[in-house]
Amino acid sequence: MINLKKIPSIDEILIQEEIQQLIARYKRDFVVGTARTIVAEIREELRAVTEEIDKNVIFTAIVDKIKLMAESVNAGTLQRVINGTGVVLHTNLGRAPLAERAIKHVQEIGRSYNNLEMDLDKGERGSRYYHIEDLLKKLTGAEAALVVNNNAAAVMLGLTTLAAGKEVIVSRGQLVEIGGAFRIPEVMKLSGARLMEVGTTNKTYVSDYAQAINEETALLFSAHTSNYQIIGFTAEVSMKELVSLGKEKGLPVFMDLGSGIITSLDDGGLKGEPTVQECVQAGADIITFSGDKMLGGPQAGIIVGKKEYIEKMKTNQLLRALRVDKLILSALEGTLLEYLSGHPRGNIPIIQMLTYSPEQLEEKAENLFCLLKARLKDNQAHINSPVLSKHKEALSSIKVITLEDMVGGGAYPNHKMPGAGVEIEFNRISLENAARELRFKNPALVTRRQDNKMLISVRTLLPGDEQEIVEMIAKLIEEDSVN
Ligand SMILES: *Cc1c(COP(=O)(O)O)cnc(C)c1O
Repeated sequence: MINLKKIPSIDEILIQEEIQQLIARYKRDFVVGTARTIVAEIREELRAVTEEIDKNVIFTAIVDKIKLMAESVNAGTLQRVINGTGVVLHTNLGRAPLAERAIKHVQEIGRSYNNLEMDLDKGERGSRYYHIEDLLKKLTGAEAALVVNNNAAAVMLGLTTLAAGKEVIVSRGQLVEIGGAFRIPEVMKLSGARLMEVGTTNKTYVSDYAQAINEETALLFSAHTSNYQIIGFTAEVSMKELVSLGKEKGLPVFMDLGSGIITSLDDGGLKGEPTVQECVQAGADIITFSGDKMLGGPQAGIIVGKKEYIEKMKTNQLLRALRVDKLILSALEGTLLEYLSGHPRGNIPIIQMLTYSPEQLEEKAENLFCLLKARLKDNQAHINSPVLSKHKEALSSIKVITLEDMVGGGAYPNHKMPGAGVEIEFNRISLENAARELRFKNPALVTRRQDNKMLISVRTLLPGDEQEIVEMIAKLIEEDSVN
């Protein structure tokens, strides 16, 4: 308790030069609030201290803590992360990073007024859904299109509009759960549609659908099993079979594609996924997919298909609750324009990442390795040496390796893409501590591990990330050497 009297008053703190600088930068009330919080914390801490502490030490500690807290609060909690995992669509890391064109469009639209709901031709009220519809029609060949908040919302809107109170036929092999929160049976229940399961987990035939059709049937539903595969003794009904059954019985076919690609990625080794255009051509009536999976845009749910069904969805009151805002629409428009008139391969980050050749990745890995080697030379790190003799050295080894990358985002579950990266074996710091330290930085670096080694895959690095990684690792080692 002997130290409590030494705690300065808030006024004394506020007149300090360093605190005055904070006040000039941030809101005064915010700095005062921060100072109060810190003083209260220090008071609590000092209560337990029995030996005497110098007044100046207490003062400096308070000022330092206020500065630190003010700056960390002002960095916000949503921050940039460097993705060294090699998982391209990492749901925990925000899925698709946006194309430059999308970002520019968001900036322009976001900072100004815009024609979100104004028909500039007529000077009258227009529809926000108008902007993207034409683009989506052009790109996919569909009669109509609609955009909502995410794909879960798209499925929900479609089912409620077309099948509430009626039956929807789904294969038991497709009653999927995606990302722990989206379960086809649950969404179906919420939408008011009744789920009619047919077939078995591993085998469903078109005759199973045919037999289940009755006067209560509203839809034939097919969910893309994007995050798992049933392999072995299996039978799945093809899109063609389902569409021809739908035509014969006069029932619409609803395809929840999930990932939804509009440019074939066959040459990137990602075969076997039908493009949205192919589904439209095959005659699917309603197709839904995510904006931030294989499309490489913002979070959105995209619905394309026959006009009569999409028009019905547009008049559903639920659409008001699922509607997208101007920022999403501008990011999506920017992304789609890149597909229409630009260079998706070069300019949409995730498309580029998914189509790197093994040689390109090896070159990227070699480049990261060389940058690290050059930067760490002074750090006595034993580059390229697998064995370490002097225990003082911070790293045991760094080397270029090949590894396996993943598409992620619940797409291509079994598809491992050959990748490349840098493997780092730390010496004094434990791998856990090193990985945590790198996650605590801003930007943070998220890496992979194998045994006791850190792996940084280069596939998911964006331009400029390499230099930052090098600095982060160098700092980590320097801090470690000081301690
Ligand atoms: C990812 C996915 C969803 C959910 O999409 P969100 O855009 O994340 O809401 C629904 N269905 C399928 C088949 C999916 O792959």
